[in-house]
Amino acid sequence: MGEAERGEAAPRQLVTYFCSHDHRSVVAFSTEAQVPESWDCPKCGLPASLDCDNPPPAPKIEPYKTHLAYVKERRSDAEAAEILDEALNLLRSRRKSGDIVF
Ligand SMILES: [Zn+2]
Repeated sequence: MGEAERGEAAPRQLVTYFCSHDHRSVVAFSTEAQVPESWDCPKCGLPASLDCDNPPPAPKIEPYKTHLAYVKERRSDAEAAEILDEALNLLRSRRKSGDIVF
């Protein structure tokens, strides 16, 4: 592009990032810097990308996890364990009776 002017502030380019919470973050980079493809959203901490139609999905481990999220996670774990237990019991009872139905 143009010649770099000495003694002046480096020319900047404004890059807009989009996160999955519909936040728009404008970040200034030097025109000489390579613009990263993703950037942490300063508003919610989720990764944001250059593509407004396709923001990166929230990672499984979110930086700001609420208490409710923890409770939900625990519950689903307990449910999973319960389902597994049920399945095992069913399997055992079937084995006992010798009545195997698929
Ligand atoms: Zn955000």
